[in-house]
Amino acid sequence: MTQKRIRLGAHMSTSRGYEKVPMDSTKIGGNTFQIFPHSPSMWRARLPDEELALKFKSEMSKARITREDALVHSGYLINLASPKDDVREKSIDLLALEMKIVSALGLKCLTFHPGSHLGTGLDNGIERIVRGLEIVFSRNEDNDVLLLLENVAAKGGNIGSRFEELREIIDLCTYRDRLYVTYDTCHGFDSGYDLSSRENVQKLIDGFGGVLGLERLLMIHVNDSKYPLGAGKDRHARIGEGYIGKEGFKHFLSNDFVQGIPWLLETPGGDAEHAEDITIIKNILGLNGAIL
Ligand SMILES: [Zn+2]
Ligand SMILES: [Zn+2]
Repeated sequence: MTQKRIRLGAHMSTSRGYEKVPMDSTKIGGNTFQIFPHSPSMWRARLPDEELALKFKSEMSKARITREDALVHSGYLINLASPKDDVREKSIDLLALEMKIVSALGLKCLTFHPGSHLGTGLDNGIERIVRGLEIVFSRNEDNDVLLLLENVAAKGGNIGSRFEELREIIDLCTYRDRLYVTYDTCHGFDSGYDLSSRENVQKLIDGFGGVLGLERLLMIHVNDSKYPLGAGKDRHARIGEGYIGKEGFKHFLSNDFVQGIPWLLETPGGDAEHAEDITIIKNILGLNGAIL
């Protein structure tokens, strides 16, 4: 079997400036990255000025990172499914602005959590998400940014822990050709998707393909889980230090289809820990010391 070109990186801080991120990613042994488009716990965001955007794009090409391989993660306050009008309106405004930031940076993929219905029921929540997405996309018809629905842990009224829920959102949205999916291994494990054998990994992939179509999967968040299968806790662990473990990741990351999708770490810690996790993943795959 020929080894695919692995695309692997981590969530990176933008505190030194967007333009530092591409080279910082290569310094930790990665060849792609994820960033926030603004402080993730604030409602405030602004477009980068033109000079910064140009510098960022030139650093991207210097680091040989393509726009399709990098990911932007939406702010945590956004909840398109909220029953509260003010929260929903602010969520629509911020998500629409985030798409414009992604476009200004020359990037393509923005991942977000579908939202929580906060006890008002799945159907109502999905209906509000879809209504919100229609507005968000209608404000972004002049760019080609894609929105990626992320599978989440089943807790607190969260929508999108099961593939069927993501499918329903995509089916109901008229902009469905701009809706894709990020698969998070910790959130999936939290929701009962097991990686403990080759067969279970194949079952997961077949399940995804059957419900969503494999072409919808654009990104993978590679995180171990601090809690056992099906716990619904959403607590990420370092690679090999959680219940998925090195064995689980060996089965998952050796899969041919999985190797064709960019992998992004959201494990605890900063650049130093992510550099170690990248090395651990390379070792799991027998790519000891290889430069990606
Ligand atoms: Zn996420
Ligand atoms: Zn994630």
